[in-house]
Amino acid sequence: MSALAAAKLGYRCHVFAPEPDSPGMQVAAARTVAPYEDAAALAAFAAAVDVVTFEFENVPAATLDVLEPLVPCRPGVQALRIGQDRILEKRFAESAGLQVAPWREVATRADLDAAVAALGLPAVLKTTRLGYDGRGQAVLRAPEDLDAAWARLAPRPLVLEAFIPFERELSAIAARGADGALVTFAATENRHARHILDLSIAPAPVPEGIAAAARAHVARLAESLGLVGLLALEMFLLPDGRLLANEMAPRPHNSGHWTMDACLCGQFEMHVRAVAGLPLPDPGQHHDAVMKNLVGPDLFGRWAALAAQPGVALHLYGKAEAREGRKLGHATRLLPGGAVAAAANPALLAPG
Ligand code: AMP
Repeated sequence: MSALAAAKLGYRCHVFAPEPDSPGMQVAAARTVAPYEDAAALAAFAAAVDVVTFEFENVPAATLDVLEPLVPCRPGVQALRIGQDRILEKRFAESAGLQVAPWREVATRADLDAAVAALGLPAVLKTTRLGYDGRGQAVLRAPEDLDAAWARLAPRPLVLEAFIPFERELSAIAARGADGALVTFAATENRHARHILDLSIAPAPVPEGIAAAARAHVARLAESLGLVGLLALEMFLLPDGRLLANEMAPRPHNSGHWTMDACLCGQFEMHVRAVAGLPLPDPGQHHDAVMKNLVGPDLFGRWAALAAQPGVALHLYGKAEAREGRKLGHATRLLPGGAVAAAANPALLAPG
């Protein structure tokens, strides 16, 4: 989707990925299929492009270490490293003045007992790296749950978080340019099904002050990082109105997919503009939006019906296989401004 946004601005994208049929390659002007560790392929790639960016954070940080001396990388390796590690994320958010759920680092079984004693139950045990969509985590409700969770998740580095009885989950996205210009998109409410993002509702139906705070938080993180590109921040909204930072990602984010259709300049174009050094305009949001993910294989089956619905923008990613739990597309219903705030249950506005 970044390559499509880049093409709209007259740029040609060169995609580097280990998989020969990645969706980006289907729409790119040039492609390199090579492992992320292939130094010769990386050097040739760096020589062929003006600037490097990435769309997901499982690119090894070592790959950017190789590229950074050769070609501008935006965002840089520091943002990638932080986004890959929950403990670095929490420390960084705290150092920037944001609140996070109480947490403890867990390296040994004894650490887990000590962390549970400190934070209480329920609590959530998570791998610090390569966890997404609820993979690599376990909710601990009773002392009996500890052994099974430890057996499943150890020996990887872990973190225990207090269980947060949040009222809603929100996210916000900031774009920052090399000149320090910064814009944010409307705060979004996210609802999950089976630990995978199901719906994003924009603007989030929350009081103005909370939405503004969500945007200010992600802007502060982008500034503290000196980031050039996009930063997404997922947050928990507590019943008392406080926002706790959960996860951050220095890239376009699934909870911002609605911006492609509901804004004049959506997140992918904003990403391309930031890394290419173009001006960053106000997003120009012209509709409210409710986005539904099409997760394989069940929800993907709805695509044909969605394609027939007026007022719904359909995106299918061209992934080769409709595997269980895989995001294969999304659909966004566009609504007049104010429709989300006026709805008793905005989830009912989802395409379906
Ligand atoms: P994460 O991978 O950290 O985004 O977690 C996936 C989902 O699990 C979140 O979107 C929440 O719905 C839930 N979750 C994660 N951490 C906590 C927590 N500390 N307390 C309550 N729910 C959580």
